[in-house]
Amino acid sequence: MSTKRDYYEILGVSKSASQDEIKKAYRKVAMQFHPDRNPNNTEAEEKFKEAAEAYEVLSDADKRAQYDRFGHAGMNGGRGGFGGGGMNMEDIFSNFGDIFGNDDIFGSFFGGGRAGGGGGRRGRGTRGSNLRVKIRLTYEEIAKGANKKIKVKKYVPCQHCGGLGAKDKNAFQTCNTCGGSGQVRKVTQTFLGQMQTVTTCPTCHGEGQIITSKCGHCKGEGRMYGEEMVSIDIPAGVQEGMQLSMSGKGNAGERGGAPGDLLILIEEEPHPELQRDGLNVAYDLHISFPDAVYGTQVEVPTIDGKAKIKIPAGTQSGKIFRLKGKGFPSVNSYEKGDQLIHVNVWTPQHVSAEERAMLDKLQSSDNFKPNPEKSEKGFFEKVRDIFS
Ligand SMILES: [Zn+2]
Ligand SMILES: [Zn+2]
Repeated sequence: MSTKRDYYEILGVSKSASQDEIKKAYRKVAMQFHPDRNPNNTEAEEKFKEAAEAYEVLSDADKRAQYDRFGHAGMNGGRGGFGGGGMNMEDIFSNFGDIFGNDDIFGSFFGGGRAGGGGGRRGRGTRGSNLRVKIRLTYEEIAKGANKKIKVKKYVPCQHCGGLGAKDKNAFQTCNTCGGSGQVRKVTQTFLGQMQTVTTCPTCHGEGQIITSKCGHCKGEGRMYGEEMVSIDIPAGVQEGMQLSMSGKGNAGERGGAPGDLLILIEEEPHPELQRDGLNVAYDLHISFPDAVYGTQVEVPTIDGKAKIKIPAGTQSGKIFRLKGKGFPSVNSYEKGDQLIHVNVWTPQHVSAEERAMLDKLQSSDNFKPNPEKSEKGFFEKVRDIFS
């Protein structure tokens, strides 16, 4: 997997850039590396795609927040097979057509260049909307990564017309307004000279053709409400509140338009005994006073089965033992957290007359008077690797 450049760096903007600044910056980079200006230049094409991917993320408030929080791994799941930055030219022109089309300056540069019109909205239909689903995962599933198959209720392409919305293949007619190009142009005089304005055709909404006879099943929409079984690979180490996206798994578009994305919000199922703290896992262990004095062996739950640990003789309440590498894996790196075991020595809340007599005896004994050593303060550091 090649290392990806930072999205902000690609567009040359600061992390606090406004939406407007991001849009301007993208337009600038896209113009520089536009395929019409750099024919047969694969390096420019890569840069053009890279900029489109950066813009796709940074122009969407949700995706941007996600990226700010989790980096590239959060966006595309890295090992999980989400989205994956595989935007092709079609995607770029159909998703960001507005940037190339409805703009005087851009239109004048690239107005006539591309087949099918100077950018603008190309292809059929209207893009489907994104869908959001929540997925609840146990600690065990988060630790290992999981595959979830869920039934998503959504718009799916109409099977009767193949999603195009027309009765048959003869039910299309070239749009008279734009002559099939999907856009209309207008030349205006400005102080900078002649400018060509390109806008989406109002009659066919950029599709270049109109349907003369609609599919009776979907009423010309090209899609119907239904459901799809989606298999979602969730990478190990995800966290509550993290959002993953699967491109193309959202609502089907209208009349053959590109589908939206499926956004997956991660929720954590609370564990009855363990508590997550970032990559680490905390566990509260309660031991009896005699066990603390004599030392003992106990079994503790971990996110990966049970583990046996030895409590040394003379263990103080409040001590923390560390099971190295028994925490959660990081979704971004090979780092792994630890399990921290907090020792609580149980203090009896009721005592019998007999116990009271024994305690009275012990109270005067020197060994029972608290006498913490200086080194106790460094205990956390001292025993961190004791069980590794
Ligand atoms: Zn038209
Ligand atoms: Zn149909």
